[in-house]
Amino acid sequence: MTNVLVIGAGPAGLAAARSALLQGASVTILDSSDEIGGQYWRHLPPSRPAERESLLHHGWARFVQLRAELEGDGGCRVLTNAQVWAIETADGTPGIVHVAVGEPDGVDREQLELRPDGIVLATGAYDRTLPFPGWDLPGVFTAGAAQALAKGERMSIGQRVVVAGAGPFLLPVAASLAQTGSTVLGVFEASTPARLAAGWLPKPWELVRAAKKGGELAGYISNHVRNRIPYHIGKAVIRANGNDRVESVVIASVDAHWAPIAGTEKTVEVDAVCVGHGFTPRLELAIAAGCELDANKFVLVDESQLTTVLGAYAAGEVTGIGGVDLALAEGEIAGHCAAGGSVSDPALRSAVRRRTTYRSFAARIESAHAVRTGWPSWLTDETVICRCEEVTYGELCSTAEATDNSGLRSLKLSTRVGLGICQARVCGRTAEELIARLAPPERPQDPFTTGRRPIASPMRLSELATLASTSTSAAAAGAAAAGAAPAAGADFRHHSN
Ligand SMILES: Cc1cc2nc3c(=O)[nH]c(=O)nc-3n(C[C@H](O)[C@H](O)[C@H](O)COP(=O)(O)OP(=O)(O)OC[C@H]3O[C@@H](n4cnc5c(N)ncnc54)[C@H](O)[C@@H]3O)c2cc1C
Repeated sequence: MTNVLVIGAGPAGLAAARSALLQGASVTILDSSDEIGGQYWRHLPPSRPAERESLLHHGWARFVQLRAELEGDGGCRVLTNAQVWAIETADGTPGIVHVAVGEPDGVDREQLELRPDGIVLATGAYDRTLPFPGWDLPGVFTAGAAQALAKGERMSIGQRVVVAGAGPFLLPVAASLAQTGSTVLGVFEASTPARLAAGWLPKPWELVRAAKKGGELAGYISNHVRNRIPYHIGKAVIRANGNDRVESVVIASVDAHWAPIAGTEKTVEVDAVCVGHGFTPRLELAIAAGCELDANKFVLVDESQLTTVLGAYAAGEVTGIGGVDLALAEGEIAGHCAAGGSVSDPALRSAVRRRTTYRSFAARIESAHAVRTGWPSWLTDETVICRCEEVTYGELCSTAEATDNSGLRSLKLSTRVGLGICQARVCGRTAEELIARLAPPERPQDPFTTGRRPIASPMRLSELATLASTSTSAAAAGAAAAGAAPAAGADFRHHSN
């Protein structure tokens, strides 16, 4: 029997696990969170269970059905609080997957070494917020964090809130804020009317196939009307002011490249602001497994969702930002193919059709709302770019100049940008873009990315020491380094600290 390991239990991973089971595989699905559902389907803490779990969610019934099917299937093992911290490759295939199971900062996590026949990488994305002066003040939230607090804690980030950035995600965030008690003073979308029209208006008949999205949009519009939330286009938050926390934000009109237009600034008093400019894929495991990335730094996959590494499939936001429906369709295809099926099997017809529909929807989002090149003009030399290591924009620019703009790796080592506790999850893509802009145009694209990490998540030294002193682990690592083929079937080794 084929053993499939699904990493990530968000919509893509859940769909992949179900599909692999239907294809006859034995499946392990794991997630570092304490519950399955990913960023989309969230849960209140067990000490405060929700009366209506589905509140603030879409497609909750689909989640409940997926969870019941996986948990009720003897061929499926569901692991939560399970952090994949490394993938070793052997002979160009993912060989050993290292997992720590237990409380994230616990001292006695169980260590597993998994050797599956097939892997589905469904690790999702981080939310992205472009820096601006004052964005490190308390009271400034990313859009994803505001949404996570609303869905997972039923908490609102403040009383008088501004929502800003770019993309359709701002709409559910504003809706959740209003439903959890905030007064949303406005949603400010940076893309200009011409940009939005270029993304959304062509080939309107294609949108009919994604009619479900139209229904969701209608819900958000009625929420805006009911809560009197104004929606502004071509405007951005370019500064947050305050002493100990945010007290006001400056909002300006921006041009088609998102450069602020002088003289249009307006100050709005707030006690919280939430800003989101889309998402960036969580690439560290895909890079560790040896998967190639495409030009936009997403995991490159073929029609079967197979990456460039034999036996490693990828699905969901890690292959491109397209929302929950695309993640579900890609997951279904990836799980089926990882379990030995073919993308041309009749069982996948609907999933392949849905993938086409929602990929074209994703392309519209990218065309209408993608980050433009003019935003750095709202930065000042004092604006913090890397919050963990407190690296400012001025420091990045002067170091780049002093080191002949020698690239990301050199700037990381000389300024420590992206090397702090969050390991570049917040500033990585921004740092990469700013450094690329500082390099002379004739220089080839920097091959380094901030997602390259041999250890994907924080580990205690004692955990690594225990592994190093365990002979089976050392032998396994040695075999992998020597290019030994991965053992067939699931081979689970356990180490307890
Ligand atoms: C903070 C945040 C909030 C969001 N909220 C919404 C929303 O309300 N509505 C909406 O339409 N879209 C939302 N999105 C976008 C959303 O991510 C997608 O539309 C959808 O959830 C994508 O599904 P996915 O399965 O690809 O990824 P995800 O749902 O992100 O699932 C990926 C899973 O992989 C797990 N994982 C990652 N790395 C590891 C590892 N090394 N070891 C173990 N597990 C790992 C993560 O814990 C996560 O549960 C949000 C995104 C973010 C970042």
